[in-house]
Amino acid sequence: MYNVLTPGPTKVRANVRGARALEATNADLDPAFFDFYRAVCQRYSKFLNTANPSYILSGEGILGLEAACASLTEPGDRVLVLDNGEYGKGFADFVRLYGGEPVLYTVDGLRPIAPEPLRAFLKKDSAFKYATLVHCDTPSGVLNDIHALCPLLKEQGILTVVDSVSGMFGNPVDVRRARVDVLLGGSQKALSCPPGLTMVSVSHDAMRAMEQRRTPIASYYCNLMAFRDYYKDKWFPYTMPASDIAGFAQALDNVLEDKEIFARHARVAKAVRAALMAGGLSLYLKDGFSNTVTAFKVPQGLDDTAIIEALMREHNILIAGSFGALAHKVLRIGHMGEGCNDEDMLDLLKALSQVLEGLGFPLKGDMVKAYRYNA
Ligand SMILES: *Cc1c(COP(=O)(O)O)cnc(C)c1O
Repeated sequence: MYNVLTPGPTKVRANVRGARALEATNADLDPAFFDFYRAVCQRYSKFLNTANPSYILSGEGILGLEAACASLTEPGDRVLVLDNGEYGKGFADFVRLYGGEPVLYTVDGLRPIAPEPLRAFLKKDSAFKYATLVHCDTPSGVLNDIHALCPLLKEQGILTVVDSVSGMFGNPVDVRRARVDVLLGGSQKALSCPPGLTMVSVSHDAMRAMEQRRTPIASYYCNLMAFRDYYKDKWFPYTMPASDIAGFAQALDNVLEDKEIFARHARVAKAVRAALMAGGLSLYLKDGFSNTVTAFKVPQGLDDTAIIEALMREHNILIAGSFGALAHKVLRIGHMGEGCNDEDMLDLLKALSQVLEGLGFPLKGDMVKAYRYNA
């Protein structure tokens, strides 16, 4: 088993694996399951500081993204797609699939989306049904300030859909303060659950927009309205994965017990960046670093795959390359959830130092020492 230090899927703690192995009930028929499911969803909503209902859907993160777009988009709807990364622009495809008209607001991918230019843009054009925004755009690790950006959209009457799949649990999310209408999460990133679940929190305004559609939602599996009355009706649109949700509940409890979770993610992320720079590597971003993932440039003359494979072969550690426009250009270290700790980062930096030197890259300084100094 590799020590998995990728930006998701992440390592899963033994008590989460254990919870998934317990005997499970019939999730369609046992009333106790509906109570359990609702209690877990409420605990999750409370963690995000919202009274909005949350639903845990069976399917990994992409299901949540598509479900939000499927449920909100009607043919001809204009949707503002905020884009400073791969997942950011990816929302345009979901909007188009359901007949909407995506309008891309594309800015520099090396830094977060700035509020003031967006405000100026919205002064000229704000006729959008909803806007999509990615909290942490994982291929680069850029973190957008949802607490500043979403209220600007909301003030213009634009619903907000936020993908925080790789942002939440490592970077604070306050749904009430950010006024997010649909918040999307995933189980396999900083929550440190196995892949397979997506969490969708839906505001009253977003639910009303779905209820007031002129046309039916063009999907069964992606229809968020199907979850609205599950508790009252004691009915789910499909059988809930009871064991996955038992694991989720334990992972959420692990998070709730961890009073230093955000401080640790911030501290570890900062120390990783300092260490990489001390070694003479270049960070990909100029600004807006997520606490969950760090992307650094593949040194000139070296091959990303060679570095990844040497780490696996010689040190039993798994890190990630990237994809889309960043494929082969950057390497990514995931320091989220169970992988966010000094021991794992020190092991990784020691191994990375040996691998880079073995491939002929002259390190400028001691990355392990720099990490310790900054952590
Ligand atoms: C991981 C991730 C998702 C989930 O999708 P994958 O199938 O794992 O790619 C969605 N959005 C973001 C920002 C993610 O990091």
